[in-house]
Amino acid sequence: MLLPVNQFFDTLPKKQCSKCGTVMEEQSECYTHECDECGGKTVYPLTFKPDPKYQP
Ligand SMILES: [Zn+2]
Repeated sequence: MLLPVNQFFDTLPKKQCSKCGTVMEEQSECYTHECDECGGKTVYPLTFKPDPKYQP
């Protein structure tokens, strides 16, 4: 049974972060089950959230 290509890809399970559930873009050579944030690839200080209401 043949499916249209886009429909075929829809049947593939989306890759989701095992921690936060964020749907990740398919990456080649990607063996992690966690997104960049949870996987610690991207080091953003979590406390760095500029508050627009903060006026020094
Ligand atoms: Zn995550």
